[in-house]
Amino acid sequence: MGVIGAYLTTERKDESYQDKVSRIQNFKEFTIPLSKEELKEQATRCMDCGVPFCHSGCPLGNVIPDFNDAVAREDWETAAQYLFDTNSFPEFTGRVCPAPCESACVLSINRDAVSIKQIEKRIVETAYENGWVKPADEVDASEYNVAVIGGGPAGMAAADRLSSLGHSVTVYEKDKFVGGLLRYGIPDFKLEKKVIERRVEVMKEAGVQFITSTEVGKDIKLADLDNSYDAVLFTIGAQVPRDLPIEGRDLDGVYFAMEYLRESNQLESGEIKKLTIDAKDKKVLVIGGGDTGSDCLGTAIRQGASKVTQIDIVPKPANEREATNPWPEYSFTLKTSTSQKEGGNRDWNIQTTKFIGNGKLEAVEMQEVKWLTKDGRRTFEAVEGTSKIEEYDLVFLAAGFLSPVVEGIVADSGVVLTDRKNISASQKDYKTSKEKFFAAGDARRGQSLVVWALSEGRDAAIAIDKYLRKK
Ligand SMILES: Cc1cc2nc3c(=O)[nH]c(=O)nc-3n(C[C@H](O)[C@H](O)[C@H](O)COP(=O)(O)OP(=O)(O)OC[C@H]3O[C@@H](n4cnc5c(N)ncnc54)[C@H](O)[C@@H]3O)c2cc1C
Repeated sequence: MGVIGAYLTTERKDESYQDKVSRIQNFKEFTIPLSKEELKEQATRCMDCGVPFCHSGCPLGNVIPDFNDAVAREDWETAAQYLFDTNSFPEFTGRVCPAPCESACVLSINRDAVSIKQIEKRIVETAYENGWVKPADEVDASEYNVAVIGGGPAGMAAADRLSSLGHSVTVYEKDKFVGGLLRYGIPDFKLEKKVIERRVEVMKEAGVQFITSTEVGKDIKLADLDNSYDAVLFTIGAQVPRDLPIEGRDLDGVYFAMEYLRESNQLESGEIKKLTIDAKDKKVLVIGGGDTGSDCLGTAIRQGASKVTQIDIVPKPANEREATNPWPEYSFTLKTSTSQKEGGNRDWNIQTTKFIGNGKLEAVEMQEVKWLTKDGRRTFEAVEGTSKIEEYDLVFLAAGFLSPVVEGIVADSGVVLTDRKNISASQKDYKTSKEKFFAAGDARRGQSLVVWALSEGRDAAIAIDKYLRKK
């Protein structure tokens, strides 16, 4: 390793951010990265553990001590090679991953984890700066062609890898631009769209064909793909949002988070000229405490909302790991996102009981809940006397996603679904019940993370390659 025992003398240092007042004036990324010199020092904190738990903490199996060692030796090119061996798009994970690798870092047992995510981002950005990100070396072209339905991170990762294995790949995407939720869900202040476009260009150079604004099942028949391709991969995401079917749900002003975030992202990239849902001068309630809710909060603040509250029905997480959530599991401690640091209020143990208004939302009725275990199951009940009504103009439902859209191609294909309505396919071979059809990403595993989408896309590509070569 770079410097033996450096973790004893060097403290973790994090990237900083532009100040709140200036960064909320626009939607641009606002991180101020550590210098290469500082990151080199951070990399020396890696202990090169005998059993590097970070490898298994990361769904991609990134070989973290190896790239840390290369960075500590200032050999950024070798570090990039290590990183690209396991991660198709570290520029995405380096920006938006919750970094389960850092939760699993052995140093985090009693000190701050190594700054793996920051190092990862700097490696990939250095690689772009130096022209090291290029199409994979040419391999003999196979005679097979594969259709990928859905250009989110899972579809992109699968296409990238299938192409590098010599197959001819076409990605069908219903939206105007590829990227899936990276493009239409996650706001620019977390991941600027040019980062996705830069990668798409490299993939096009490698020969991947992207056919956008084309919904399979509507603009092109699934049967046509079945007839024209040797394998078909569903990476259509889990885009059915969880609803809150309470009184007043149909009032004007109550929206799913993705209706709101999609428009804001489209406006930012010039895809549309005007918002139909605008939080300017509005009182906003965000229901749901996860990434999606946090993105709504940051967006509403940037649009000039007069008040933003984010509530969650679950209890406030603890500051330290609980006994039921030991290292090296992903730590479910209280996290405060950069958006949450920008303003707004947060509250927990709150359920929403009624949307009030006359055609248009005016207020929301809420109530505290308490959590208990009944018959071995976690459940909650309302706390009497805590009902309250607060004025709001807009509500964004950010309570998660249930499954892929089943009506249309999924139903038409006849593939077997799980009891949660995800596409059933094992994590071993990603095969669905229909010959030559495969599934990966959120469509297969349910709502998840970018790092899992990349991992599934890459592994599905290998499974498809094996299937084709067997043919
Ligand atoms: C607002 C929000 C914020 C998030 N923030 C984070 C975060 O900070 N960190 C993190 O790790 N994860 C985050 N996630 C989760 C992450 O974005 C997803 O897990 C990931 O994008 C899933 O990738 P995917 O490729 O499986 O699906 P998706 O990204 O949903 O992509 C599916 C693609 O398929 C296309 N498609 C669907 N049907 C068809 C069809 N019939 N024909 C053609 N194309 C079709 C869709 O248009 C879409 O482009 C967030 C999610 C949301 C909603």
